[in-house]
Amino acid sequence: MQRRHALGAAVTGLAAAGCASTAPAAEAASPFQVARASVPIAGSPEVFPVRRIYCIGRNYAAHAREMGSDPTREPPFFFQKPSDAVQFVAPGQTTDHPYPPLTKNYHYELELVAALHQGGRNVPVEKALDLVYGYAVGLDMTRRDLQRGMGDQKKPWEIGKSFDRSAPIGPIHRVAQVGHFTSGAITLKVNGQVKQDANLNQMIWNVAEQIAQLSQAFELMPGDLIFSGTPENVGPVVPGDLMEGLIAGLPPLRVKVVAG
Ligand code: MN
Repeated sequence: MQRRHALGAAVTGLAAAGCASTAPAAEAASPFQVARASVPIAGSPEVFPVRRIYCIGRNYAAHAREMGSDPTREPPFFFQKPSDAVQFVAPGQTTDHPYPPLTKNYHYELELVAALHQGGRNVPVEKALDLVYGYAVGLDMTRRDLQRGMGDQKKPWEIGKSFDRSAPIGPIHRVAQVGHFTSGAITLKVNGQVKQDANLNQMIWNVAEQIAQLSQAFELMPGDLIFSGTPENVGPVVPGDLMEGLIAGLPPLRVKVVAG
């Protein structure tokens, strides 16, 4: 009887902990504070709290080919970066980005980022854009040598993709201000020289389709960011290089790589 009671208490405790982890505000006191990742919202004093960062891989045919896969046969695949991988890059400014440790082949991948204010499971494509709060310019920075090395060993990509500050991002622009992005130029320059130059309409899976697909694997939630994949011609940067990311309709993203 007493044992059953203790078990009941444990189960109740678990249930309460589960509730607390998803409840928005009221939290138990903590022995220390953990910074909450967020991204400023353009034209607003508010910030967008980041819950998860999903990234889609090989979403432009020419990039899929340069990475050694066949874009006609592969369904979209996803990986994540930790939410605190965001590094905010203020518009009109150049932000220093430290060259990360362990790599000798550090690559840019310029990407359109969709920011969600609604969630869901098994979201139909035709409703998917309702989940989108806004868009930003982002970089999926990649330690390519580590990514490839782990891939060759059939080990997780984590160390190549999901490191500190691996997601430089500009402010989030609300859909009400900028609309949805289904086409338009996406261009990355390094030291003024064009490196990546494509159109958002060349995505294999558009943002609505990405959301629909992702929501079959994960329950999407407000605060999720989706990096929508990079076009072809990814390449390396070294300390001293200035990257400029341009997506038509959003302000340029300027990031200078500095010694780590
Ligand atoms: Mn990417």
